[in-house]
Amino acid sequence: MGHKMSRQFYIQVIKGKEFDFNAFRTREEFEYYSEEIKRFKDNPEKFFEELDPEIPLILRIQLIPKSTWGVNVRSKVKKGDWDKIRKAIYEKANMECHICEGKYESLDAHEVWEFDEENHIQKLVEIIGICKACHNTIHYGRANMIGTQKEARDHFLKVNECDMVDWQNEVLQARLDGLRRNEITDWKLDLSLIEEQGYEIK
Ligand SMILES: [Zn+2]
Repeated sequence: MGHKMSRQFYIQVIKGKEFDFNAFRTREEFEYYSEEIKRFKDNPEKFFEELDPEIPLILRIQLIPKSTWGVNVRSKVKKGDWDKIRKAIYEKANMECHICEGKYESLDAHEVWEFDEENHIQKLVEIIGICKACHNTIHYGRANMIGTQKEARDHFLKVNECDMVDWQNEVLQARLDGLRRNEITDWKLDLSLIEEQGYEIK
């Protein structure tokens, strides 16, 4: 597997900030990056020219804005309704994770959101049945808090068949998105997806 430069690497090194060399796992990796620092330091534009085009990732991180933590479909519908919604999802999934396509004894119902940052609307676009490992990776912010970040990273690498640079880029991208969305503190939930199915929103 060839090396690639990550955006995080660029920001930390080329912009003159200190890079955490402990992050490299092998001497070979360390030496590669040491050389790259020299190569790009005087010519930062070259970095972007050489950056790999974004490969499609099946499993992505999505950080939920702080102001809507804990606010979800489950908290917005009647208890019995949430059970009905979940059950329908699980039946449709037939014990297969919607993302990694593995077979599991139990799945989680995962809410997929779209963020309209201009109008401060967090819109529910889908609820899917996914495995616990995929769920842990998507909510990487939470994984960090409960100490399962390594599992999240490993699952990301496996499902996307990608390398550490892709992971670093994804974490950086998710953090930048998260920071921007956290500046908005009055997100309104759009739950029309389930309202249209006849469920009442509290
Ligand atoms: Zn999965």
